[in-house]
Amino acid sequence: QVRVRFAPSPTGNLHVGGARTALFNYLFARSKGGKFVLRIEDTDLERSTRESEDAVLQDLAWLGLDWDEGPGIDGDYGPYRQSERNSLYKQHAERLLESGHVYRCFCSSEELEKMKEVAQLKQLPPVYSGKWATATDVEVMHEMEKGTPYTYRFRVPKHGNLKINDLIRGEVSWNLDTLGDFVIMRSNGQPVYNFCVTVDDATMAISHVIRAEEHLPNTLRQALIYQALGFPMPQFAHVSLILAPDRSKLSKRHGATSVGQFKEMGYLPQAMINYLALLGWGDGTENEFYSLEQLVEKFTIDRVNKSGAVFDSTKLRWMNGQHLKALPSEKLTKLIGERWKNIGILMESQGSFIEEAVNLLKDGIDLVPDADKVMLNLLSYPLQETLMSAEGKAVVEDKLSEVAEKLLAAFDSGELITALEGGHSGWKSWVKDFGKSTKRKGKSLFMPLRVLLTGKLHGPDIGGSMVLLHRAGSEGLVCPQVG
Ligand code: GLU
Repeated sequence: QVRVRFAPSPTGNLHVGGARTALFNYLFARSKGGKFVLRIEDTDLERSTRESEDAVLQDLAWLGLDWDEGPGIDGDYGPYRQSERNSLYKQHAERLLESGHVYRCFCSSEELEKMKEVAQLKQLPPVYSGKWATATDVEVMHEMEKGTPYTYRFRVPKHGNLKINDLIRGEVSWNLDTLGDFVIMRSNGQPVYNFCVTVDDATMAISHVIRAEEHLPNTLRQALIYQALGFPMPQFAHVSLILAPDRSKLSKRHGATSVGQFKEMGYLPQAMINYLALLGWGDGTENEFYSLEQLVEKFTIDRVNKSGAVFDSTKLRWMNGQHLKALPSEKLTKLIGERWKNIGILMESQGSFIEEAVNLLKDGIDLVPDADKVMLNLLSYPLQETLMSAEGKAVVEDKLSEVAEKLLAAFDSGELITALEGGHSGWKSWVKDFGKSTKRKGKSLFMPLRVLLTGKLHGPDIGGSMVLLHRAGSEGLVCPQVG
């Protein structure tokens, strides 16, 4: 059975890189009818916090990446936090000591420091000299009786190489000569990261390890530990880095990088998911628009790219616009309506008015919060002020005299307002007559009208805007400080 895991360290927020790793694991599991396990890697007790664990879990849930086993969802392989699995690590470390794959190393940190210096002088790699690798039982007993602290050190084969067949990168091989024996348990009994991960993946029956490329050096150590413990090795797939537009590693200095930030900015989870999937994956066609369900259907690991993918926030924004337009109208209306009520643009969520507004402006926005600006703009159209004030009249008259004069007359006589009371059809027939009387049509009619009525060169459909604006005024829907 396919079992994959996402293993975040709860030391900060969920970043786009982590979210993409989680997504690929999720897609792989779902497309294979397997299990998606969530494991919290909180061995670094100083940097791990419950708060950050909660935030990561929330972000994953927001993205819709539900896990089958993990914190909050019991399974047969728990507990799912490393901090709760210490006895298991202990037990397997003892097993390796008995089989001789691990030995006790009594070197002090000063001694180890010396070793490094000597190696450096000789221009050799800074690896452990192997001092305690060949100690006799008597020597070991002697130190233990003295109470000298010791670590558990893994005996690395001194020659040869180790190969894995990575599902994304193909064959990856390492030369073992320069690795050196490494510690798997510290002198305070605390197991070391690579050891925990291996014991966990093995005892949680993980079949495929899909993670970031930066873990490749860990894979070498983990593979050796697998062999020593006699556990079958999972298949590995190392996903390439996410790069900034300048092709450096994406980091905070490039702007928003955490899922929470995008959520705050008003991004839709389905757009995030879609965009993250395209960072290093494609189904081989031109198609770029996918729902999570469609991704599950199309995803195959062999189509994950070996080279780094550039994070393009403009494209992500565009992608959000695509998903926004694809939302059922009621859904978008609800999203935007609640928002407007909360931030005080409208007095209350007036259903049909908001629906009309959303229909009018949805084509011009990429993010839900973009709608605020368009709406506020619209509500501040100078219909009354511009057309009624003497100053406004002067401006209008001297700029676009012919259209302006007639428009002003239509406003003063109440003809325009009456037309707007008739909604869209009222506007349509009024504007048709207005065109006739000014002998204008198309752009030469609508551009001056737009400028005169809205004070802007661009915006949503002018007729729709006017009808909506009229409604907002006459039905008293707009918060006084806004309208
Ligand atoms: N805890 C590691 C991280 O957050 C992931 C380790 C792994 O996937 O093996 O980078």
